[in-house]
Amino acid sequence: MRRVVVVGASAAGLAAAETLRREGYEGTLSLIGDEPYAPYDRPPLSKQILSGEWSHERLPLRPYADLDALGLDLRLGAAATGLDTTDRAVLLADGSRVAYDGLIVATGVRPRRLPGDGAQHVLRTVDDALALRDRLGPGRRLVVVGAGFLGAEAAAVASGLGARVTLIEPAPVPLAHAVGGAVGQVLSRAHLEHGVDLRTGAAVAEVTEQGVRLADGELVEADDVLVAVGSHPNTEWLADSGLTVGDGLVCDEYSAAGPGVYGAGDVARWHNPLFGVEMRIEHRTHAAEQGMAAARNLLRPEAAKPFAPVPYFWSDQYDMRIQAYGYLRGHDEVAIVAGELAQRRFIAAYRTGDRVTGVLAVGMPPGEIRQWRRSVAAGAPWDEAVPAQAAEVA
Ligand SMILES: Cc1cc2nc3c(=O)[nH]c(=O)nc-3n(C[C@H](O)[C@H](O)[C@H](O)COP(=O)(O)OP(=O)(O)OC[C@H]3O[C@@H](n4cnc5c(N)ncnc54)[C@H](O)[C@@H]3O)c2cc1C
Repeated sequence: MRRVVVVGASAAGLAAAETLRREGYEGTLSLIGDEPYAPYDRPPLSKQILSGEWSHERLPLRPYADLDALGLDLRLGAAATGLDTTDRAVLLADGSRVAYDGLIVATGVRPRRLPGDGAQHVLRTVDDALALRDRLGPGRRLVVVGAGFLGAEAAAVASGLGARVTLIEPAPVPLAHAVGGAVGQVLSRAHLEHGVDLRTGAAVAEVTEQGVRLADGELVEADDVLVAVGSHPNTEWLADSGLTVGDGLVCDEYSAAGPGVYGAGDVARWHNPLFGVEMRIEHRTHAAEQGMAAARNLLRPEAAKPFAPVPYFWSDQYDMRIQAYGYLRGHDEVAIVAGELAQRRFIAAYRTGDRVTGVLAVGMPPGEIRQWRRSVAAGAPWDEAVPAQAAEVA
């Protein structure tokens, strides 16, 4: 293999490029990204950058010297617009073609938006975060639409800066689909305690110049509106490639999407053999892990290994650090296996079928959380791992 192209210059793409070099690949290595910046980290955008605690100078994932040492053909501000899998070339917006023997697709996701004429903030890039940060401060009225992890983090930071925050969520209980009703309820109580006006069961019809219009006609006025209602995988450029796209680039258990093509990170939907299901994961450490795994399988297909991770996620909200391992979606049961749910100091275990498939912890010692992670990794039988007296919650 003489030419490898990685499209998407962020967590997954950089991890793939570094792994290729570490594993001895010496050919041309193109890293193509449409943002004008060198790879940078996104989790601080809704935390330390939004709060003003950090300057954006702390965001780059690597110093320039380290990027230089990779000997990259680094193309920033360059969008891929098409893929020719027959002649093996990536098409760029400026009309040029970049030929490849091996390709890694790591183009991530972009935020969904809502209907309406009013200005909408989103939170995906450093520019998004700086633009919103400049608008926050004591007395400013911010409406956040969507009380998922991203919306919840932004609401927490904005209220900490003295903004008057309204958090609007269509579901009756925020995060219930991901973490279960009882856990979602307890986590969302933190918003009320910090003076955030949390409105559940409220659908937003449109964003207007005055704020947001709810489905029942009520206008919630705001100086700024942040829309945090999920994301679209960036796959449009793959439309005529012959690769299978369906809520992400569809990959097999080796992260392979087609001959010489692998997917990694937020954009990739793949079969995780550890859980026996197809998943697409939007977590920071997962993106790097899949970038590394895809790079190894691309270099040595004859020794390819299935990519079977225990996904990991964290979120910081107010004084809470929430950590989750495994695959919680679609669970059949949640039980509190340590600590106290009501005190927001607990470990919740998730059962799917007869196995422990996930854990979520708040404010618990790392050793105890790691022990539960091992149960998830081992696919431990629920009846053996979870004490009979553990409290079952909805
Ligand atoms: C505000 C925020 C907070 C987060 N907090 C957490 C957290 O606390 N914990 C956690 O686990 N995860 C968190 N995440 C998620 C985590 O940041 C992502 O999972 C991770 O960034 C995914 O990396 P990626 O490389 O797959 O995709 P991305 O980081 O989305 O990178 C994809 C890159 O490809 C570029 N691109 C897209 N299309 C093209 C194209 N056609 N041509 C060229 N380039 C293209 C994009 O512009 C982007 O630069 C957070 C994300 C955000 C936005």
